[in-house]
Amino acid sequence: MHRHFSGEQLVLATHNPGKVREIGDLLRPFAVSVVSAGDLGLPEPEETGTTFVANAELKALAAARAARLPALADDSGLVVPALGGAPGVVSARWAGPGKDFGIAMRRVERELAALPAADPRASFACALTLAWPDEHIETFEGFVHGRLVFPPRGSHGFGYDPIFQADGYGITFGEMDPAEKHRISHRADAFRQLVDACFG
Ligand code: IMP
Repeated sequence: MHRHFSGEQLVLATHNPGKVREIGDLLRPFAVSVVSAGDLGLPEPEETGTTFVANAELKALAAARAARLPALADDSGLVVPALGGAPGVVSARWAGPGKDFGIAMRRVERELAALPAADPRASFACALTLAWPDEHIETFEGFVHGRLVFPPRGSHGFGYDPIFQADGYGITFGEMDPAEKHRISHRADAFRQLVDACFG
C-alpha cells in the first residue's frame, strides 16, 4: 500500500533551478503549493549514495525533517553504458564547480571517442522520493532511452539535454519543446508512477 499525499504544501528538495522548473510544471495540475529547499534556505545534504534511489531518499528525508513538511526529491543523471554507466550519480559533478555543462558534454565526447568502438547509446534515469516528516518514504524510478549526438544542439532544458536524442526522435532534448520533453522524459516516467501511487 502506498501512502496518499493529502497535504497542501510540498518542499522540492533541490537547489537546481532546472529541476525546480520541471517538477513545478509537472505538479501544476495538483492543488499543492510548492516551495523549494533553496527558497527555505535548507542546507544541501551531501549526496553520498551510490545509486539514484539512495540519493533521492537521503535528500527527501533531509528536507522533510528540516522543513517538517512532506518533501519531494529528484536524483537523476545521464547513464552511458559504454562508459561503465558514467557519469551516472555524479552527472552534476562532471560540470565542475562552475556548473558548466559545456565542459561536462565535452568530457563525455572525449571519453567516448577514446574507446575503440564508440557505442553512443545512453539513458537518463530519475529517482523520485516523496518523504514525510515521520520518515515514511515512497520512491519511484523512471527512464528514457536514446543516444548521444555531437556537437551539442539546442538551448532548451538543462544539463546534458543538448547531446541526448531520445529513441524515435531526430532532435535533441535541447531542441525539443519543453512540453514534449515533459511527456517522454525520465522525470515524467517516474512522476507518472508517483502520481498514480500517491496523488491518484
Ligand atoms: P543531481 O542533482 O545530483 O540529481 O544531478 C543531476 C544531474 O544530471 C543534473 O545536474 C544534470 O547534469 C543531469 N540531468 C538530470 N536530468 C537531466 C535532464 O532532464 N536533462 C539533462 N540533464 C539532466
